[in-house]
Amino acid sequence: MSQLSYKRTNVYEVADEKLMKEIFDYAEGYKTFLDEGKTEREACAYAVEAAKKAGYKPFEFGMKLKAGDKVYYNNRGKNLYLLKIGTADVAKDGVRIIASHIDSPRLDLKQVPIYESEGIAFGKTHYYGGVRKYQWTAIPLALHGVVALKDGSVLNVKVGEDENDPIFYVSDLLPHLAAKQNVRPLGEAIGGEDLNIWFGNVPYTAAEDDKDKTVKENLLRILNEKYGMDEADFLSAELSLVPAFKAKDVGFDRGLIGAYGHDDRVCSYPAYTALFDEPSNEHTVMVILADKEEIGSEGTTGLQCALFADLIDEIATSFGVSSAAIRAKSMCLSADVNAGFDPNFPDVCEKHNSAYISHGAGVTKFTGSRGKSGSNDADAEFIGYLRKLFDDNGVIWQTGELGKVDQGGGGTVAKYIANMNVSTIDIGVPVISMHAPYEVVSKADLYENYLAFRAFIK
Ligand code: MN
Ligand code: MN
Repeated sequence: MSQLSYKRTNVYEVADEKLMKEIFDYAEGYKTFLDEGKTEREACAYAVEAAKKAGYKPFEFGMKLKAGDKVYYNNRGKNLYLLKIGTADVAKDGVRIIASHIDSPRLDLKQVPIYESEGIAFGKTHYYGGVRKYQWTAIPLALHGVVALKDGSVLNVKVGEDENDPIFYVSDLLPHLAAKQNVRPLGEAIGGEDLNIWFGNVPYTAAEDDKDKTVKENLLRILNEKYGMDEADFLSAELSLVPAFKAKDVGFDRGLIGAYGHDDRVCSYPAYTALFDEPSNEHTVMVILADKEEIGSEGTTGLQCALFADLIDEIATSFGVSSAAIRAKSMCLSADVNAGFDPNFPDVCEKHNSAYISHGAGVTKFTGSRGKSGSNDADAEFIGYLRKLFDDNGVIWQTGELGKVDQGGGGTVAKYIANMNVSTIDIGVPVISMHAPYEVVSKADLYENYLAFRAFIK
């Protein structure tokens, strides 16, 4: 092929022994992060601990920042801002921002979840984010989250991860009796109100009153003994059912990782480790681990919250410059996953413009749907800058779009930051089976994503 054509590079095809070792070693730390941080709260807590080890101190509003400062802002335990103040003039150099998210699709318990039917105690759920409901049946689920009690204390709950823990379950039909379900459209095979969690089956036989000899009563008794909570405490709880699987290598050659929640921990982990590992201190860098991306970035912990602008204001105040000037000079990598081309389902992707597994970090100029609607559609000039930056630093990267024109689509946090007058583009790892309980990524893409972030903040 001539030098004039664009060709993607397969990382594993060109990697020497040293790079292969770096790729495989780096993946081990990532797998631990996946297993320890299955919810935004857990991922946030894990990253806060890593930040403390890296010398980051808690930021409080009103604090005067100066060059060399390394601070973090833990927003309600679900959203983390990491900030390293550089030596360059922030009004001229702006802030290098990497914005990723740590929430993932799952099943959330409703506020009055527990009911009993025919001797089974169930939990009602409302799914969070875009799930294909049929995929969440007949797999082991773990219960993660918090219960805020009336005395002001907060219970941390994590059941189903330990080898000896029970797990939870959503049932599906047996093939023998599924004839009618089989002919329904896939999206209607399992309804939203069918995602009921199997919580128990043993009645409370010690009850004095016959009407209390129920499975639900026994379940409430166990919860009371274990956590000191009663049914009303679910009203002020955030409890989620997530897949109970651990992260594992996929395939005999171990080049891929299977796990729950690669979207978007596969960008969050490289974002904060790139920040901690990068010794240069010229640029001011902000790494964001956001919540609520999967449901539109709304609310106090989503990226549409004023907190982002407030923190830029705090930097501006510290240096006596305008935040508008800082934002105008800032650049942002919206670090989020993209759809990897799956040879099993080639029809939904256009092969010239898809991101391919193990072909490096995937840069996505636009997302959205039906005529790029809802996308920030990054400037050619900004991509030009990044092309040179990545190529000069030996980063293997590729371009990739989210599926064929009019096939579907999606969005990221990119537009919310771009709307603040910050040059922003999407970059991330191509994922197979995105939003499924078990997703797959390439270790090579994870590592190239990390190298891209290192180059961006250097
Ligand atoms: Mn995402
Ligand atoms: Mn997603």
